[in-house]
Amino acid sequence: MQRFSIAIHGGAGTILQSEMSAEKEKGYKDALQDALNAGYKVLENGGTSLDAVEQSMMQLENCPLFNAAKGAVFNALGKHEMDASIMEGKNRMAGAVSGVHNIQHPTSLARQVMEQTEHVFLIGEGAMDFAATIGFPFIDDDYFYDEFRYQQWLKIKDSEKFQLDHTIVDKKFGTVGAVALDIHGNLAAATSTGGMTNKKFGRVGDSPIIGAGTYANNATCAVSCTGSGEYFIRGVVAYDVSCLMEYKGLSLQAACDEVVQHRLKNMDGDGGLIAVDTQGNIVLSFNTEGMYRACRNNEGRHEVSIYK
Ligand code: ASP
Repeated sequence: MQRFSIAIHGGAGTILQSEMSAEKEKGYKDALQDALNAGYKVLENGGTSLDAVEQSMMQLENCPLFNAAKGAVFNALGKHEMDASIMEGKNRMAGAVSGVHNIQHPTSLARQVMEQTEHVFLIGEGAMDFAATIGFPFIDDDYFYDEFRYQQWLKIKDSEKFQLDHTIVDKKFGTVGAVALDIHGNLAAATSTGGMTNKKFGRVGDSPIIGAGTYANNATCAVSCTGSGEYFIRGVVAYDVSCLMEYKGLSLQAACDEVVQHRLKNMDGDGGLIAVDTQGNIVLSFNTEGMYRACRNNEGRHEVSIYK
């Protein structure tokens, strides 16, 4: 039988076991497991990797433990501006949105951009206008409000500081992502985030940028990143992993290690990524204390982990 695989992440950062209660840890692991199951079920039934990553992303976007959609961080104006992207490896079609609000599933909106327009990337009010045109559902501000994230923003709102949601110990972390290989041999990747607390109005991170935070190519791999977005943009991280495989012939593991443990680290970039290749190999790589992550294939690998 053709191999199939899926991996998801809920953000990387200073995630220490010493700072985590058993109850909290269980909450994160259950949330990861549920999201993994949603995508795995699609693959198991012969569905596409694109549908699998979208299903997993919808679960993660619904969960306030993660910094994407429900539970997204506040920007410098005290508002939510969300970014998301999705890409498939067969034809290298991609869709992305940035600076959107009142959208329950930004990844699904990115998919609509991919499937219903000739464009790849729509931003701000243009993306919102597109959503309205296709009858995409809007949801009230209240849905996105999270007391903890609001307090987090209040602490730094009058400063020039902006912060990664996941560098604070013992707190709620992260951007979410998913990558998958289906039984048809096709790869897909997606990433969704609220960005960084107190980020400037209009700031765009790596998550919606094809090649930086998300990439998929059937010739190589599918990648979804998390970490300090500015470094991932400058390092063109997701595409760099693919390039090392395509041009240098590196294995998925070697390519991910080179990018995350060397190139990114040398730039002082912290974070991690999840990746799957056309053979169904899965790599979960990060240079931080932890990364919320989970993966499963049809040959018995099944993992849900948080720490190093
Ligand atoms: N990469 C995201 C950003 O910079 C943040 C994260 O991964 O949590 O917007």
